[in-house]
Amino acid sequence: MYKVMAVNCGSSSLKYKLYEMPEEKVLCSGNVERIGLAQGIFGIKYGEEKVSLELPIPDHKVGAKLVLDALTKYGIVKSLDEIKCVGHRVVQGGKYFSSSAEFDQHNADLIESMTPLDPLHAPAHITGWKAFCEALPGVPSIAVFDTAFHQTMEPEDYLFPIPYEMSEKYDCRRYGAHGTSHNYLADTAIKHYFGGKAEGTRILSCHIGSGSSLCAIKDGKCVATSMGLTPLGGVMMGTRSGDLDPSVMDYLCNCTGKSVDEMYDIFNKKSGLLGVSGVSSDTRDVEAAAKEGNERALLSAKLFARRVADYIGQYYVRLGGCDLMIFSAGIGENSDYFRELILKDVEEALGLKIDYKKNIGLRGKEEVLSLEGSKVKVIVLPTDEEVMIARDCLRRIENGRI
Ligand code: AMP
Repeated sequence: MYKVMAVNCGSSSLKYKLYEMPEEKVLCSGNVERIGLAQGIFGIKYGEEKVSLELPIPDHKVGAKLVLDALTKYGIVKSLDEIKCVGHRVVQGGKYFSSSAEFDQHNADLIESMTPLDPLHAPAHITGWKAFCEALPGVPSIAVFDTAFHQTMEPEDYLFPIPYEMSEKYDCRRYGAHGTSHNYLADTAIKHYFGGKAEGTRILSCHIGSGSSLCAIKDGKCVATSMGLTPLGGVMMGTRSGDLDPSVMDYLCNCTGKSVDEMYDIFNKKSGLLGVSGVSSDTRDVEAAAKEGNERALLSAKLFARRVADYIGQYYVRLGGCDLMIFSAGIGENSDYFRELILKDVEEALGLKIDYKKNIGLRGKEEVLSLEGSKVKVIVLPTDEEVMIARDCLRRIENGRI
């Protein structure tokens, strides 16, 4: 039995889950929020207990120390020596990483060198890694990359049609994201619906949350995914625009007098459901407003569904058909309203037969939505990125590589 910690550091947050492996038992989980602001929040859940504290948390180092102190304070571990590996979620692995890797100084330098590809997360990953290294000296760390699962794409799927020399020189290509989630969904679905045999399976995975991406998975491997150079690309999201005609940037900069950086920020933080509806980035608010007759809220929901439906069509062709379609993440798992809008957009073309009554009220649990005779099986499957990190930690321990 090994205890391993899955860590996800954002610019001002640190999410964590402590597992007992190989049982995959969650011993505790929590979130450190508002790091660097005047007042931070430290949260932990263990067994039936839940603790939330407000206190200044100036940096990730203090955040990591709070987490580790809580483990002994609340009796979750007797000693920190019990933790055998820390697995860090890293968003961008670029061309360097097609699987998880030791998070050592060499790889930290590589991750840091890719900051231009992920300015939002890369610095936080490095800070978080350093914080845990200092707090748990001698305990090995691994980096689990969001992009790694997508490294099996062919050049036709990952290249942008720009001058080839620029793609090469600047590593400017589609990397995708949410790979750990898509990998979990594919592995789980193959186990549950195809007797564990990946060969011959064609899966369309829809990870639809505040960030959203679709992934076409053949024989258990990614062949195409919707996010691009950064997580701004692909389908419409909570606050992100997703794919745009590239000339929109130039046109709007000229119209508004805003800089490229300012427009980029608008495409990332003020677009998507929020930008179109003018109401919220949260599907619950958008749905409520649409049902009260707010026309822009309704339009934003339909636009969102249409963008997802367009990618489903594209990936249906890319896969040469589809055996299984998965809805997952915050919206995919919880919003019957958005699932129905999307399914209605694709059901005729794909020959789906859906039990729309079963779709209603379904929240965060695995369920088959399609009926007998549907040409594609459609399921809801809750994702679990943290358990994938814990499994990678275990693999590394058992392989003796750390
Ligand atoms: P995620 O980024 O995967 O955590 O997804 C978060 C998003 O999922 C929220 O912004 C909401 O849009 C959506 N969401 C979460 N819970 C629900 C719910 N109970 N009903 C509808 N939408 C939900």
